[in-house]
Amino acid sequence: MKVAKFGGTSLASAEQIKKVCDIVVSDPERRIVVVSAPGKRFKNDSKVTDLLISLAESKLSGGNYETILSEVVGRFESITTGLGLDNSVIERVRHNLMTLLNLDTSDAKRYTDSMKSAGEDNCAVVFSAYLRKLGYDANYINPGEAGMILTKEYGNAEVLPESYKKLEAYLKNRSGISIFPGFFGYSVDGDIVTFSRGGSDITGSILAAAVDAKVYENFTDVDSVFAVNPNIIPNPVPIASLTFREMRELSYAGFGVFHEEALIPVYRKGVPVAIKNTNNPDAPGTVIVLNMKTPSQPVVGIASDTGFCSIYIHKYMMNREIGFGRRLLTILEDEKLSYEHTPSGIDDISVILKQKQLDTEKENRILKRIRDELNVDSVFIERDLALVMVVGEGARKSIGMAERATGALARAGINILMMNQGSSEFSMMFGISAADAEKAVKSLYREFFVLGPITPI
Ligand code: ASP
Repeated sequence: MKVAKFGGTSLASAEQIKKVCDIVVSDPERRIVVVSAPGKRFKNDSKVTDLLISLAESKLSGGNYETILSEVVGRFESITTGLGLDNSVIERVRHNLMTLLNLDTSDAKRYTDSMKSAGEDNCAVVFSAYLRKLGYDANYINPGEAGMILTKEYGNAEVLPESYKKLEAYLKNRSGISIFPGFFGYSVDGDIVTFSRGGSDITGSILAAAVDAKVYENFTDVDSVFAVNPNIIPNPVPIASLTFREMRELSYAGFGVFHEEALIPVYRKGVPVAIKNTNNPDAPGTVIVLNMKTPSQPVVGIASDTGFCSIYIHKYMMNREIGFGRRLLTILEDEKLSYEHTPSGIDDISVILKQKQLDTEKENRILKRIRDELNVDSVFIERDLALVMVVGEGARKSIGMAERATGALARAGINILMMNQGSSEFSMMFGISAADAEKAVKSLYREFFVLGPITPI
């Protein structure tokens, strides 16, 4: 069977939902359908999830929530009316929202998560009602009953390992089409908890892994994953297929098509992912697979992200000092900081981090500890860095990649602050000033995709 997940823009209006319906019923293998909350219909529209967050905030602050409530109900009502559903469906939605509004507000995070789940939950109710009206055997699935049990981290939950067996038992041999709301599950003690934003992708991936699906189809509003951000390069080269590792590197550094965490469950199970466009379902899309016999070309994509900083440390004879790295990283661990890369030389090491983790107080504390405990010659922090990644498994078998990449950056007048090529050799990372990020991506794209690919050895 196939698991198909549809994103917010695919479910933003009755017209969009009709397209989703055509896609679902055109393939009898699409037996599990995961839905997001209705998203934006046009550029400045609101996502239902954002409206629900505002609704929870107004209720929690004791303000007037009536206007937002009617906006949420109005969004669902325009959908149920457009789909020709009878009144009982919108009444069920209204009743659900009223029940959530009247929940205990003593824990703001718990309350907000319950409210946030209403976008996906009601979307699943509406979509299954529509399929049934057309005569299909479709059923709304409650994630709690089905076994989607998550850690109790409001707004950032993770799936518990026991969920997989439960979900498999509940879903695998069900008749008809199961419509499963994305983005949330339940804690062991029965609270609604949501994944991080965009988390319906994670739900779909968990279900695809649980039932060992033939493919996890992720329907969105673009034809494919592109080799570079289309906001930087108009009409870039589409990627027909890539590996999980390549996708992970690209989505880490700013590729927004797919939620970063969502790849984990399907990756572990080896279930391929197909990214497709609801508005153009016949386009070939992008397939993500575990392994490719021969990579189509050395570089599949170029990504960049800003918001990084680097802690640079120099100490004469650092390479001889046993335990230096461990003690340095322990200081970061004590401060609950995660790090991204650690490029190093014989006497120096840089630790690259997401800079939003570091406020001034933490920064001063860390610098003092590094000076005092590690007795270093110098330590300082450089902020506002961008990381640019040149990604491709085929790079391992290609000569001259680094030369071409650094040459492209030099020709664009960009100063490379650091470079890192992991031992796996499927990505090259360049640390540069954030102000140069776009220029760097443009120059690298020209080098690897316009001037022609490198021939593998
Ligand atoms: N509706 C949620 C959000 O806007 C989850 C999702 O769409 O994947 O973040």
